[in-house]
Amino acid sequence: MDIKKLGVVGAGAMGNGIAQIAAQIGCEVVMRDIKDEFVERGMKSIDKFLSRSVEKGKLEAGEKDAILGRIKGTTDMSQLKDMDFVIEVVIEDLELKKSVFKELDELCRPEVILASNTSSMSITEIAASTNRPERICGMHFFNPVPLMRLVEVIRGFSTSDETIAVTTELAKKMGKITVEVKKDSPGFIVNRIMIPHMLEAIKIVEEGIASIEDVDTAVKNGLNYPMGPFELMDLTGIDIAYFVSEYFYKELNKESKWVSPGLLKTMVRAGKLGRKTGGGWYAFDK
Ligand code: NAD
Repeated sequence: MDIKKLGVVGAGAMGNGIAQIAAQIGCEVVMRDIKDEFVERGMKSIDKFLSRSVEKGKLEAGEKDAILGRIKGTTDMSQLKDMDFVIEVVIEDLELKKSVFKELDELCRPEVILASNTSSMSITEIAASTNRPERICGMHFFNPVPLMRLVEVIRGFSTSDETIAVTTELAKKMGKITVEVKKDSPGFIVNRIMIPHMLEAIKIVEEGIASIEDVDTAVKNGLNYPMGPFELMDLTGIDIAYFVSEYFYKELNKESKWVSPGLLKTMVRAGKLGRKTGGGWYAFDK
């Protein structure tokens, strides 16, 4: 299937990265957020990434302008009406995602695939808010989108083989390595593995066993990971780690291993969310 026009709902950290790589493969992109300032922030972030690529000699200045010219930012949802494929990238809130999918379902042509970049939530439940559950799937990118190679393609209960094939083909065209998550289960593959190690890292600090820096140093040098769990949360969003662990607790038999440590809750309540906004673990006064 030839996807020429691609819609992105949400211009945040992930949304603007997805809009950028879609424009890089030649798609006409419409990126929608709820406020002009969020749309502008997303556009600025793309401009900054591409300008750095030009400085490094990885991209021609003319190519940068052409890519930016293919991305239209808007706050008007109806601009997504003619899209061939839409990716939802709003915050990790199931009710919000369901309402966005309901709106997209009413707006877009019936054959259009609507994908969610959710980190953890049920594709089946999101799909049930639409009249096209066979054309709904998960398309889970990683942060930062232009640099991270993996995309998890997630099958909901009703997702068709064609939807999985088209979404996989699109991700590959974007230069990504894909894996298929055959069963819709909270956190899919990567976050099911990653969240427990983030929660343990917070508990280690909470129990006074080691400092934030030393936990990161230990993980990087003892396990040969490129980033420690605190550095990673500061990049990906402390709120996302919290929302995902809360969702796991609710959905995965209320096992105690998914209970959010008090310190994680406190950081979120204090608005210290990482992602370069409002501080993060490394701004936290130990
Ligand atoms: P973010 O907070 O940076 O961006 C979310 C954006 O969605 C905000 O700009 C917000 O204004 C916008 N938004 C809210 N309601 C909207 C609506 N109705 N229509 C359009 N836009 C709306 O969040 P993010 O880090 O980009 O994460 C977005 C999604 O991607 C979440 O589901 C998250 O779990 C997932 N995800 C995040 C990461 C990460 O590392 N941050 C990685 C993989 C997946």
